[in-house]
Amino acid sequence: MKPAARRPIPLAQPALLLRRFPFGESSLVLHVLTPGAGRVALLAKGAYRPSSGYFAVFDLFDTLSVRWSARAGQELGLVTRAELVTRRPGLASDLTRYRAALGLLELAHLSAREQHEERGLFAWLEGALDELQRAVVDPRLVALAADLALLREHGLAPALSACASCGARPAERERSVPFSAALGGRLCLACASAERARGRAVEPIPLNALRVAESLMGATPAMLAHTHIEAGLLERVRAFVERFLEYHLETRLRSRRSPQAPLR
Ligand SMILES: [Zn+2]
Repeated sequence: MKPAARRPIPLAQPALLLRRFPFGESSLVLHVLTPGAGRVALLAKGAYRPSSGYFAVFDLFDTLSVRWSARAGQELGLVTRAELVTRRPGLASDLTRYRAALGLLELAHLSAREQHEERGLFAWLEGALDELQRAVVDPRLVALAADLALLREHGLAPALSACASCGARPAERERSVPFSAALGGRLCLACASAERARGRAVEPIPLNALRVAESLMGATPAMLAHTHIEAGLLERVRAFVERFLEYHLETRLRSRRSPQAPLR
């Protein structure tokens, strides 16, 4: 199949850097998220030269305004102009916030489409980075709420109260409930048995972890600011939400796995 013809994008686009790689002596290859064109790969020539016009502009986590030109037969668009719009310096100075922010960039990179409008995703990422910069809410809580919001944005929110398979509302007598990422969330006992009989994975999730995920689904920053969750419980919620995300994004979230994400 021939790649779709690239439409020229004449106006500057708001952009958030998802990844950046040094290229040659003084240039950078950038993967950026834009509301109007989704994920875009760009070449910023001479980005490390003070005379380039965008020296020291391309930092992770900042909102930029970027103009570029597509080049016939080239993978990378060429940056023609770039300006800083919003700096978020707090994210690089605190390791917990830095890692939460890197995890958001990675999620956005995995789920952004190329040559497609991604207004919802852009607003999601910018809002979550703002929240981390404000440093009012625990960064792990911001990341978890962002994971759930992204699942919802993609229409993939896990079933947390009714059975994902038959829709029944199971009685909650046990301390854990059966859960299947493949089937889309929690299961009633009958559907869980049927799924196990087919040789498919069903894992037990603590009921209180499920309840916390439910309360975080759709929580506003103001609500998060007043939410306090004990660290062990937060970790259990994070673990099952992350496995759910991984299953549905069909990949591993690398920056969340590495114990020490490299500082760039
Ligand atoms: Zn069921």
